[in-house]
Order: sequence, then C-alpha cells, then structure tokens
Amino acid sequence: MIDWADLRGLVEGRLRLPGDDGFGERTRAHNERYRHVRPAAVLSVASAADVTAAIGWARRRRVPIVARGGGHGYAGTSVNTGLVLDLQGLDEVRVDPVTELVTVGGGARTKGIHDVLRKYGLMFPLGNSDDVGIGGLVLGGGVAASSRALGLTCDALVETELVLADGSVLTCNETQNADLFWACRGGGGGAFGVNTSFTFQARPVMDVSTCLLLWHWEHAADVLTVMQGVMRDAPDRFAARIGISRSSGQDGVVSVVGQHLGPAAELRELLSPALAAARPHRADIADRTYWDAVEYLHHASAGGAFAVRTRTTPAPLPGDAVRTLVTAVEKWPGSGNADGGGAALFTWGGAINRVGAADTAFPHRDVLFLLSLDTAWDPGDPPETVRANLDWLARLHRDMGEFAADASYVNFADPDLADWRSAYYGPNLARLTEIKRRHDPDRVFDSPQAI
Ligand SMILES: Cc1cc2nc3c(=O)[nH]c(=O)nc-3n(C[C@H](O)[C@H](O)[C@H](O)COP(=O)(O)OP(=O)(O)OC[C@H]3O[C@@H](n4cnc5c(N)ncnc54)[C@H](O)[C@@H]3O)c2cc1C
Repeated sequence: MIDWADLRGLVEGRLRLPGDDGFGERTRAHNERYRHVRPAAVLSVASAADVTAAIGWARRRRVPIVARGGGHGYAGTSVNTGLVLDLQGLDEVRVDPVTELVTVGGGARTKGIHDVLRKYGLMFPLGNSDDVGIGGLVLGGGVAASSRALGLTCDALVETELVLADGSVLTCNETQNADLFWACRGGGGGAFGVNTSFTFQARPVMDVSTCLLLWHWEHAADVLTVMQGVMRDAPDRFAARIGISRSSGQDGVVSVVGQHLGPAAELRELLSPALAAARPHRADIADRTYWDAVEYLHHASAGGAFAVRTRTTPAPLPGDAVRTLVTAVEKWPGSGNADGGGAALFTWGGAINRVGAADTAFPHRDVLFLLSLDTAWDPGDPPETVRANLDWLARLHRDMGEFAADASYVNFADPDLADWRSAYYGPNLARLTEIKRRHDPDRVFDSPQAI
C-alpha cells in the first residue's frame, strides 16, 4: 500500500488519485492506443522543487515515476502505472528582448510559447501542433517548417535545468555538464532526468509564404516523383511534407503542404515542375505573416489510436520505391478512423545537416527526407481491424527497407521497432549509453525505449 499522504506533505502541487476530479485529463495519452494504461497517481507539480521532492520520494518508496509534458508522445511513454509527474504547471515563458533568449518551463506547450513570442516578434523552430510539449519535442530533436533554414528545436537550445535521479539539480550548457547538455539535444525524452526549464536562442520573425496543394489519386506516383526532385533542388528556406493517404470510403489524397521563408511568387516558381506535371484540384499558395502561417500549418488530426514507423533517405526515392508506396496505400485495410493510413516524405536537410552527427545526440544529419508511414484506427474497431492495420504497417515498413535506411526519428516513437537503439541514435548510441549509466545507474527513469 502506497502512503500518498507522505508525498502530499513534501510538495506544493496537487496530488490526484484515480477518481479525483481532473485525474483523467492529466494522465491520458494523446494516442488512444495507450489509453488503457492507468497510473496510481498524478502529481501536478507547482515548482522545480516539487520535481526534486517527488523523485526522491519515488526512489525511497520504489514507485515508478515518469514525467509528462504535453502528453503527445506517440508511444504513450509519459504515462506509467506508478506516479506521473504532470509538468504542465511549469509553463512560464520569459523573454529577454535584448539577447533574444527565451526561457520556458519544462511543461510549456507550443501554443503558450508562441503566444508570448508573438508579443516580441520572435521565433525559434517549434513543431506544428499547439498542444505538443516542449520537453518531448526538444529532447528528441524537434523538426519545424523552418528547420531547413534555421535548424532543429534542439539546435536553438542553449541551456536546460535538469533534475537527476539522485535529486541533484544541474544547469546544463556548452560549458557546464556538457555531456548531459549534449544528451538533451536528441537523446529522447524522459531518459536522463526531468528538465524543469529550457533556454533557447530566438530570432526575429520574418514574413513567409505557404502552400497547400491537392491532387486526385491518379497523380500519386507522378507527384511523389516530381516533388522529390523539387525538394532536392529547393533552397533551404523551403520545406514541405509530401503525402499520400487513404481513409475508409474516401478517394485517396495526394498532398503537398509547405512553408517558404520568402514570397509566394518565388514559392510558385519553385513548385512549377509539380504544377506542370499534374494539375492539382486545389492550389493555395499565399503570402502570410509568420503567425498566420503557424495557424495555417497547424496539424489537425481525427485523434483516436495510431501507429507510425519511420525511415530516412539521403536522396529521392527511386521509381520502384514510389510504386511500392502507392500500391501499399491502395491496399490499406481500412478502419473507423478518418485519418486513415498513408505515407509522407518530410523534407529535412539544409541547416539540420550543417551540424555534425556527433555534435548533438540527434544523429540524422545526412538526411534529405524522413519517410513516415502511418495508420490510424478507432478504439472501438474490432481487434482484427487493429491487427490488419498493424500488419499492413509492418509489411510496408519492411518493404521500404530495400530503398530507405533503418534510421528512425525518436520523436515519431515506434514501439514495434526491433532495433530501436541503433535506428534512433546511430553512431551516438555508445556515448548516450555511457551518460545514462553514469547519471542514472539504477534506471529510475525507465520506459520500454529509454536509453
Ligand atoms: C499532433 C502532433 C504533432 C506533432 N508535430 C511535430 C512536429 O511538428 N515536429 C516534431 O519534431 N515532432 C512532432 N510531433 C512529435 C512530438 O515531438 C513527440 O511526440 C514529443 O515526444 C511530444 O512531446 P510531449 O511533451 O507532448 O509528450 P509527452 O508524452 O509528455 O512526452 C514524451 C516523452 O518525453 C518525456 N518528457 C516530456 N517532457 C519532459 C521534460 N520536461 N523532462 C524530461 N522528460 C520529458 C516524457 O517522459 C516522455 O518520455 C508531433 C506529435 C503530435 C501528436
């Protein structure tokens, strides 16, 4: 029997047990595939001191503990069956307008950060969902529509405050605790400690343009082929997601969504080979302020349960690979989730690749496209539908192994990936493992895919 009163006496924040008001929303995984996991309690921390106290208590009582930022991890790793540390109270955002340094609490989410940055006309690369937590995003790398020009979220990180398993609170930057600072830039969330704050180097916003292009399914192979060439030759200021997908009862969708740090006229010119190859039935190409673009590119999803598997490629995929993708999406088995199943190529490279593979823990510095394969189902779908979807995804991931590397993006966490250590971390695995052993020898911070 766990003595929760004991913990209550040590912290300022509110401890909730199952059945308490607000327990569900603070412990629910965004991905409904993991909604069955029920923690014993959730502590909504009020301060960094609460984090230290809770870690010490959990160690003494041998209660498993896990940090929850935005709760948007794909593999549900911010919810366990012990104590969840809900960090959302650590959401302060402080801006120094002179140095343009921005310090955010370890539980801040994208929208809260953007709301403050907007007042100062500043930005740094953040993802495309309001609700994603800064912790999960930056610790695994963090890719934004501006990353080809400005680098990853973790490339903008200059300092973080980290509470270790032994309760020590460390400032980590290039000169202090540099090994942990290195690990916090791509080593994955929840592996080395709990980060109570992050400081980023921001920069002034600029006007941009965006595109949303949609084609009928018959053009899927042509668009995938031509757009890969467009993106290979594009300036770093342009990034795009090239997608093909299907959902039950609907025609397949072929899409390109992108942002260009330049005018719409230039973007239209960049896209001209794709516009000439096949006529889109929708083509929105427009100048926008940076903040309009943030809203326009916001990721909307049907929710429910999903699985994602990734690979990378340093060059456009050959014709056989494109045919494999298109044929597979045509054979997607169906489900009750409107997001359906599909494949997308996210353009990486540019500034991401101008950092050395060993300079931060994020190793994928030679990639042109992240290939993301996904499927979604409704939690009410029968088990055979779920099985058919996961089998479809596993087969497609295997088949694409002929064309794209085994490397995977840790922030698109894939619990079904056998060799996740080398796929996520490549040449940085040995150093990460050594840092983990040194700072968390008892594996206080543990999950199925924690280093
Ligand atoms: C709708 C949606 C849109 C997305 N868009 C993007 C995108 O544009 N670019 C991109 O790169 N990725 C994107 N992702 C992936 C996202 O980066 C990861 O899912 C990320 O792990 C989510 O972080 P979180 O804090 O919300 O999740 P959580 O589930 O709370 O955390 C994920 C992991 O990080 C740990 N963690 C969280 N905060 C901390 C902290 N402060 N200290 C220590 N450990 C911590 C948790 O313990 C857990 O292991 C998106 C995901 C979704 C669902």
